[in-house]
Amino acid sequence: MDCLFCKIAAGEIPAQKLYEDDEIMAFLDIFPATAGHTLVMPKAHYADLPETPDGLLEKMIRAVRKLSPAILEGLGSQAFNLVVNNGKLAGQVVPHVHFHIMPRYPDDTIKVNIPQQPYPEGEIELVKQKILQALEK
Ligand code: AMP
Ligand code: ZN
Repeated sequence: MDCLFCKIAAGEIPAQKLYEDDEIMAFLDIFPATAGHTLVMPKAHYADLPETPDGLLEKMIRAVRKLSPAILEGLGSQAFNLVVNNGKLAGQVVPHVHFHIMPRYPDDTIKVNIPQQPYPEGEIELVKQKILQALEK
């Protein structure tokens, strides 16, 4: 398969691995937002988060819990953002599901000030209904 992360999983493209087991791999992002920016993925190919089986997602999040304290301790960071870019419109470039662990530093350049605003009057109930209807299908 012509997938960059499948090639990393197969060892065909080198990566700075931090963790590996039969099903999961974590490695340093080569174009980091901050020092220690780490990607956690299943070795098997799933395009995005909703496609990925529950058991694998659980193993990915377990890897995040195992690795994140070491990343923080090793690099002197006190906090991290855990990010999933799910789908092209959300900024997903590599269509092989992965979590980003981004350690934070006081003077880093990550901006998490996503603009938010209140719903117009009555809109929040409509939005809730639409989602709950879809959930019932
Ligand atoms: P996303 O936009 O969520 O699909 O993230 C893909 C990430 O993969 C980006 O942060 C890239 O910097 C990173 N990336 C691309 N190629 C490689 C590579 N060969 N090794 C490690 N990370 C990579
Ligand atoms: Zn893949």
